[in-house]
Amino acid sequence: GADIAVSQLALNPRTGGPKNLPILEVNLDDNDTEEMRRQKDKPKLVILGGGWGGVALLKELNPDDYHVTVVSPTNYFLFTPMLPSATVGTLELKSLVEPIRNIMQRVRGHFVRASAEDVDFSARLVEVSQLDCNGKQTNFYIPYDKLVIAVGSVTNPHGVKGLENCHFLKDINDARKIRNKIIQNLELACLPTTKDEERKRLLSFVVSGGGPTGVEFAAELFDLLNEDLTLHFPRLLRNEISVHLIQSRGHILNTYDEALSKYAEDRFARDQVDVLTNSRVSEVRPDSIIFTQQSEDGKSTITKELPMGFCLWFTGVSQTEFCQRLAAKLGDAQTNKHALETDTHLRLNGTPLGDVYAIGDCSTVQNNIADHIVSFLRSLAWKHGRDPENLELHFQDWRAVAEQVKKKFPQAVSHLKRLDKLFAEYDKDQSGTLDFGELRELLKQIDNKLTSLPATAQRAHQQGQYLAHKFNKLARAAPGLKANEIVEGDLDAAVYKAFEYKHLGSLAYIGNSAVFDWGDGWSLSGGLWAVYAWRSIYFAQSVSLRTRILLAMDWAKRGMFGRDLMSF
Ligand code: FAD
Repeated sequence: GADIAVSQLALNPRTGGPKNLPILEVNLDDNDTEEMRRQKDKPKLVILGGGWGGVALLKELNPDDYHVTVVSPTNYFLFTPMLPSATVGTLELKSLVEPIRNIMQRVRGHFVRASAEDVDFSARLVEVSQLDCNGKQTNFYIPYDKLVIAVGSVTNPHGVKGLENCHFLKDINDARKIRNKIIQNLELACLPTTKDEERKRLLSFVVSGGGPTGVEFAAELFDLLNEDLTLHFPRLLRNEISVHLIQSRGHILNTYDEALSKYAEDRFARDQVDVLTNSRVSEVRPDSIIFTQQSEDGKSTITKELPMGFCLWFTGVSQTEFCQRLAAKLGDAQTNKHALETDTHLRLNGTPLGDVYAIGDCSTVQNNIADHIVSFLRSLAWKHGRDPENLELHFQDWRAVAEQVKKKFPQAVSHLKRLDKLFAEYDKDQSGTLDFGELRELLKQIDNKLTSLPATAQRAHQQGQYLAHKFNKLARAAPGLKANEIVEGDLDAAVYKAFEYKHLGSLAYIGNSAVFDWGDGWSLSGGLWAVYAWRSIYFAQSVSLRTRILLAMDWAKRGMFGRDLMSF
């Protein structure tokens, strides 16, 4: 049955709600302690998901203010940035996970191992499902006063045929499967009965997606093949092994500073990792991958077939079924196809009671940057005695305006680069003008894109922390918070500022070297020292002392004995 009898509290089902399902709630009898009674009377905070967003919230929340329930189909937190290292045995899988119950001890909450299926926003009930002891699906409700949706995302298939022939890298099980497949290919390639051509195919490793994760995986794979292969598989010739990285854009790591993406490309070229840019995969077959490659001038495309024994698919993320269901339910309030839209206080747009929040990969914040910019330009026009509706903006003026916008709306800074590009596209020879109406239309069209934040652990973490700080304040600010009915005014806005994302930089491991990008032209790249810096940063961010000790032991073990090349 439900995994619910944690701490001293037991949750007993009664039926109800729109679907007349069992409702799980705290049930006390005469023998229960004062502490249990106090727990029961606290506002119910339900967190869906035990990933980066959910855990950051749990770690900062005051332990005494809420009755916390976490719902997740996995009972551990996964430290995703190091997952590529686990696919090749540099790190052990267990070093990257922390039991969610350990993390929850601080807030004395409940963990329910189940998946959220739906939310009844008016009745404040989350419908969850789980398989019972007989393998039968059971659905039930969990009531909430505040609900936080932090369920992450799923891999984006981009409608490509044959993805069942690919591996994905999202979870610990994916890493295990990848590790087994790589080793299985190496073993098969070694068999005396394997023909030359088949051996080359088995040893052709393809990564589709040149973002940080695809790049890090290619680098880890290269390290494994380069450092441990000759020792463990002396029959295999290094020149029979190939690693290919397929990227649809002109450069790998294209969201990083240009110098860094060039550095990574040069490094890969030196290491003989075959980087195929401007290439789009159209089909993945069991033993080959078909892609079209555009010439550098963009004038011609050719279709190529690459024999392969392994393909990793990592080309971005999209919405989970649960989030799609919620978005459809909320109708016009949700227009983004990729993520749940929230206001700047991270409240889900369109819910009737304003008590549902969405954070991390599953959400996007609507800042309405375009509206800010338009109103800014309007005020500028008035100041200079010009009619904003007849304002003409010269392309060359844009930089000056952008500087002003930067000062007034710090949250727009990361979008200005995109706006520059937009202007360049709009006005290719940079000599024309843009009238105010046209500008407004143009900005409105891309508002969704302008305001989308990166789907990163960094963002999910900041949003989780933000909610914890706000909930801590709310619990103190509103003694009658139990029902959390904001009758007048906006209590969230009254007690705490709106969420502001602070980009603290991006980093990527690229094979015995690493790159760091802090934005605004600040970047660094380097060899061994950078690798140690990269490790130190993740070591410090690791979720517990337990995982830190395990990580240190793994690195030491690998340094002394090499990687374990076994499949289980
Ligand atoms: P997640 O961390 O994915 O957590 C989602 C949680 O929700 C999980 O516990 C899941 O089990 C649970 N869940 C799912 N469905 C349901 C449901 N229906 N009901 C209840 N619970 C549910 N970001 C960086 O900033 N730096 C990096 O170096 C980096 N490297 C990465 C490497 C890899 C291999 C991957 C896969 C991602 C990487 N990311 C990195 C991205 C980062 O992991 C995500 O942005 C981050 O995990 C998002 O956090 P989240 O809390 O939104 O979702």
